[in-house]
Amino acid sequence: MKLYESTVYAQGRFLRYDEARVGLLTHGLNYGTGCFEGIRGYWNADERELNLVLLREHFERLHTSARILLMHVPHSVEELAEITVELCARNRYEENVYIRPLVYKNAEDVGVRLAGVDDAFAIATIPFKHYYDATAGLKACVSSWRRIDDTMAPARAKITGGYINAALAKSEAQMNGFDEAVMLSSDGHVAEGSAANLFLVKRGKLFTPDPTQNVLEGITRRAIISLAKDELGIEVVERALDRSELYAGDELFFTGTAAGVVFVNSVDHRPIADGRIGSVTRALRDLYERIVLGREPKYRAWLTPTYAGRRVTAA
Ligand code: PMP
Repeated sequence: MKLYESTVYAQGRFLRYDEARVGLLTHGLNYGTGCFEGIRGYWNADERELNLVLLREHFERLHTSARILLMHVPHSVEELAEITVELCARNRYEENVYIRPLVYKNAEDVGVRLAGVDDAFAIATIPFKHYYDATAGLKACVSSWRRIDDTMAPARAKITGGYINAALAKSEAQMNGFDEAVMLSSDGHVAEGSAANLFLVKRGKLFTPDPTQNVLEGITRRAIISLAKDELGIEVVERALDRSELYAGDELFFTGTAAGVVFVNSVDHRPIADGRIGSVTRALRDLYERIVLGREPKYRAWLTPTYAGRRVTAA
């Protein structure tokens, strides 16, 4: 199926992608005044089921982002989950997908502001393969771009305009021959990757910047923290991290909805341990992958099935 033929949710109904238009002067496009989510659906071929991962948590974060930006999401978390399931079913996906809900200021005039401007809400979906080609791990560098500080724009909201920061860091890293950037906050502590949270293993403990370190509070981050504690019995410490702690780490990995759990083999040309995936990272990655594929009965509640018990309606 071509993208323009896919079904989206916009203007309060299901439309074809190319029927849902955004005008050139739209505030969200010109001023970055929008917030969004990235949600994954994993196709389980054995069960012929598309399972959506931690749907509720993503829509709760969307509501939080919108509240921070004086925007209104026209549906409750439950309604959003139902619409998303219906949308995936209408697209009849039998492959992994990425789901992109978006709230944005949709006035078409000039004058940057948030208050008193109408909002629009949409959800689009797209088939999705891999975010990184990461079997050998990622070569990371510390970016010359600092992570946007919460005193400049809300760090814990997933804001469209904020992604210029991520785009600058990611492209700088790639143009310099690295795979991914590690961004420091303006106070010099480690924040996160361009679109992923960062974890460090040292002497059997797991460390990650706490939520006051100008990071997006990742849904995958939270999932990995709970898996590390509950399933691996590892102590998890959330605190400010220094750049040189990364160089001295035993293992380093990124987490994100798109990224999954992906190990870092070097930072600024310094190999992390022997440059191969470490045992804690491997255990967490494998467990997370089994969970999202629906192979861990204990964690079925993290998944929302698309097709189970429903009649698939044509768009
Ligand atoms: N930080 C940033 C800046 C991101 O864009 C993302 C991706 N949403 C993450 C962290 C990881 O968050 P999540 O696990 O919710 O995808």
